[in-house]
Amino acid sequence: FSAFSASSAAAAAVSGGSDVELRAPLAVLGGDVRVPLVTGGEVAYAALDYAASAPALRRVWDDVAAYAPYYGSVHRGAGYLSQLSTDLFEQSRATVAGFLGCRPDDQVLFTRSTTDSLNLLAAALPAGTRVFVFETEHHAALLPWQRAEDAEVVCLAAPRTPEQAVAALDVALHGAPKGPKLVCVTGASNVTGELWPVRELAAAAHRHGARIVLDAAQLAPHHPVDVADLDVDWVAFSGHKLYAPFGSGVLAGRPDWLRDAEPYLAGGGATRTVTRGADGRVDVQWHEGVARHEAGSPNVIGAYAIASACRALTEAGFDRLVEREQALLARLTEGLAAIPQVRVLSLFGPDAPRVGVVSFVVDGWNSSHFAAALSAEHGIGVRDGLFCAHPLVRVLLDSAPGEPGECGAPDAEPGERSLNAVRVSFGAGT
Ligand code: PLP
Repeated sequence: FSAFSASSAAAAAVSGGSDVELRAPLAVLGGDVRVPLVTGGEVAYAALDYAASAPALRRVWDDVAAYAPYYGSVHRGAGYLSQLSTDLFEQSRATVAGFLGCRPDDQVLFTRSTTDSLNLLAAALPAGTRVFVFETEHHAALLPWQRAEDAEVVCLAAPRTPEQAVAALDVALHGAPKGPKLVCVTGASNVTGELWPVRELAAAAHRHGARIVLDAAQLAPHHPVDVADLDVDWVAFSGHKLYAPFGSGVLAGRPDWLRDAEPYLAGGGATRTVTRGADGRVDVQWHEGVARHEAGSPNVIGAYAIASACRALTEAGFDRLVEREQALLARLTEGLAAIPQVRVLSLFGPDAPRVGVVSFVVDGWNSSHFAAALSAEHGIGVRDGLFCAHPLVRVLLDSAPGEPGECGAPDAEPGERSLNAVRVSFGAGT
């Protein structure tokens, strides 16, 4: 790896110099993680991969630990711990509803992740739904609809401005036949960090009688998300990107499609009554509320941890968090702009508003090697590849399907196209 010293300039831009703390102190894991470098010595490791998973807040771990003595099965028992656990679980739902600015009749469902939330909604589509997505979506928001029975997916080409996105959706919805329609859109791209015009897309969707679901996996950790104000029908996000541990997520929004759908999973908790019918079949009456799609023993700790993260972010104040993150972002983008070999990837242009997620390519480098060098030589952890958004990265890199991108790509010669990219991502500190 000693040959990778060309990564030093980018490392300096990425780490931002000694006076800027990129390891958000909000996300304290209990002190520095020190790693050995191939060049000798060791450094405090800087994990700049928050877009994949942000380290859980100390506050969240503390809340979870404080809950541990009261651990009990929810909704099932008359015992004190069971009742307490049920209260904490249901209060967590209310906290998340408040965090998301839900309308009074919205439902908050606890799931495993954003992927799980969007698959749940895909399984709940009314028959014959047309789903409109841009090719720029994360695979979690692009693919579940393909598997929905009796749904048709309309995949729109990557727009090059937010206005183009709204216009393209408007045209597509205008020309669509009658019947149920759903738009799925991200709030902030996991590749470019760019913010999408959610409010305008929601207005376009509703103008044409369509519903809209917001993939807020990358938006919610960086910006307040207000479901009622944005006028989106559903929102999905993941706990592990919002400073909570792995394994929990949320789908929140309108109750009607969810109430009318078959339960996502069949099993205990989702049922009102189960009987053996005279004909020897099993007859089931399902719940209509959130329990309908939460069969089985839920991840109570995960839900509680998400609620704790929501409280921590709200108390820290998004105004302050956004200000700090934007200062870090400016430092990073200015540093990268000063390196001629670096090209920052952008759909909407270099000045488009974005969260703390920046992808780039370095002329003459395979991004996987570059990312490995950043880690081995500088103790900086970033991500490389196509970021589960293959069509978008191909548009940004102008590469073709089938070209090796995720791994195994050779180093590009100077001036040649890169086949994958490096991503730096972080969150706000206090
Ligand atoms: N949507 C976006 C924009 C993402 O960035 C991700 C994860 O990177 C997902 C959805 C899927 O999230 P999860 O892996 O937590 O299900």
